[in-house]
Amino acid sequence: MSKIRVLADHVANQIAAGEVVERPASVAKELVENSIDAAASRIEIEIEAGGRRLLKVSDDGEGMVRDDAVLAFERHATSKISATDDLAAIATLGFRGEALASIASVAKVELVTSSDEAKAGTKVIIEGGRMRDVKDAAHPRGTTITVRELFFNVPARRKFLRSEATETFHLTNLVTHYALAHPEIAFTFTNNGREVVRASAAKDLRERAYQIFGEEFLENLLEVNGGHPEVVRVMGYVSAPRDRRTSRDSQYLFVNRRFVRDRMIGRALSEGYRSILPHGVYPAALLFIETPLEEVDVNVHPAKTEVRFRRSAAVADAVRDAVRSALAAAGYVQEDRGVARRSLDVETQSASAAAVNQSTARIPEPVPVTVPVFEAPPVAQEQHQSRMEFVALIESVEEALDEKEVSREVAVKDLPLESEPGREPVAVTSAVKLPKASLLPPLNSAEKFAHEVTPESLSANIRPLGQLEESFIIATDDEGLLLIDQHVAHERVLFDKYRTLEAERRSESQQLLVPETFDLTPAQAAVFDQLAPELENYGFDLMRLSGRTVAIKATPADLPAGEARNMLFELLETVDPEKKNSARETLRDEIAASLACHAAIKVNMPLAPEKMRWLIDRLLQTSSPTTCPHGRPVILRLKTKDILKGFHRI
Ligand code: ADP
Ligand code: MG
Repeated sequence: MSKIRVLADHVANQIAAGEVVERPASVAKELVENSIDAAASRIEIEIEAGGRRLLKVSDDGEGMVRDDAVLAFERHATSKISATDDLAAIATLGFRGEALASIASVAKVELVTSSDEAKAGTKVIIEGGRMRDVKDAAHPRGTTITVRELFFNVPARRKFLRSEATETFHLTNLVTHYALAHPEIAFTFTNNGREVVRASAAKDLRERAYQIFGEEFLENLLEVNGGHPEVVRVMGYVSAPRDRRTSRDSQYLFVNRRFVRDRMIGRALSEGYRSILPHGVYPAALLFIETPLEEVDVNVHPAKTEVRFRRSAAVADAVRDAVRSALAAAGYVQEDRGVARRSLDVETQSASAAAVNQSTARIPEPVPVTVPVFEAPPVAQEQHQSRMEFVALIESVEEALDEKEVSREVAVKDLPLESEPGREPVAVTSAVKLPKASLLPPLNSAEKFAHEVTPESLSANIRPLGQLEESFIIATDDEGLLLIDQHVAHERVLFDKYRTLEAERRSESQQLLVPETFDLTPAQAAVFDQLAPELENYGFDLMRLSGRTVAIKATPADLPAGEARNMLFELLETVDPEKKNSARETLRDEIAASLACHAAIKVNMPLAPEKMRWLIDRLLQTSSPTTCPHGRPVILRLKTKDILKGFHRI
């Protein structure tokens, strides 16, 4: 007897649902995408009990006639594509025609819809994949889909749902994404009867980001606008280097306005920050990548959150360069000549690139790069406000974290943040509320008086006065008093020097009288072979002796002989030598940063006045005098104005 049977439709649908409907947020994703595809100008999302009890999406889009409303629940029923060729250029968010069928197979669904064509609206009721009722019903133009008791007939799936708070977090995150991708659509999001997001139609991404994240978040963003004509355009915003996260949660990435999770784009973004953000620290980003439809395959995963690019290296380059240019425009790095040339090309973009551009979230006027304005507390309010708390910097890190949290909470006070005892802690989208651990404090907010110096506020008129704790140079400039971290300042100077010499193939070496030998572990040995040629470009002369023993015969100039070994060990443990092409640049930066760190003046070291003068002069000539190659601030400033305030003189 034959054993193979074709599965009944409702079984097949439930299996498909396993891929499409992972949790309430994935249901919301499909419904919101359908509303966007239906050209809605208003989308309302309503949930109860984390979307398990109720999940309702209502739109004013084109709606459906009765036959379509019934057909919509059939598997592979779609109005969006009809032939294989269509798959090559998908302009809609949906195209697989399986979302509604999948959702209806694992929940109790009611659809009410009305279109301009039909006289009466239609209501369809379908439960666990079984059609219960189809009848006339009143509804303004558009569609409302109500999904109740998700997974009521699949206990195994229900068990995998997380707490209400977690599911609500995912739903909030999702709504945030779509609201950002479609500023022209009005969004509301209601949780357990409470409206938590209300964003009216906005004129551009900037206005929408303001509606959602508030002013503070926006003020610290740099505008990105770059790419290559015909291949890819990259637009949006990224955070300044001082704003740091230890996860990628605050990176909102979109490809042709489809929200994606893409490691390649994430990596390219990080590479844009090479030499100003350390490893394991991530910028916040709202990045829109626009490519001609045939350049990207969206049919990679049932949930459509992964994409494949035809020319992925070109996309990665474009992202990295666009981000780099944004940082350069704000004075955080020097623009590579290559990047400058390419962005010129962008200005004379071809008609097709212009067409791509048209379909994107428009970003009209350039974002002014604003530095967080330091506000001294009102004089009478705080007793300690006149203490000059330079050295309380480290102590107040905790405090800064708290402050940061408070201020973010204020901005999003309407989001579902309440956590009751016994409940899992609420994690709301981290761009909105950052969990403590994911944020390295920007040091400027840690300090009541001294704050990080921005590149544009630096003048050549810096006069060193002396040292604090033999670690920080005390100096003055036209705006006030400066503290310069001598170690990181020298790191920046050396980093630029090593990098330039290497790029120009002019690295200088110092021969060791007696070569120093050391042994590698097998893992280190593998890395070593890859790394050695790069190291030699920096002035190392390394010889692999028998087995896994290495001899250092010469080291780069300025690197104390005793540091060479430590530095090599550190590099062998941390770098990924497999890096190719553009990532090679990152590897070279890592080597230069490590060399700079080991060769730089240490803290707790007395400096003669001439040495301080020399260091400051050299620092000012570097590509980024205000941040060290690891992304830390180099200079803090106490403004004269604040000193006067502190002494109650103004
Ligand atoms: P897909 O979006 O991949 O086509 P779905 O199962 O999500 O598949 O939807 C099936 C069809 O139902 C869509 O192609 C569309 O014609 C119709 N549809 C679904 N939701 C809406 C809506 N909100 N407004 C108008 N039509 C809709
Ligand atoms: Mg769909």
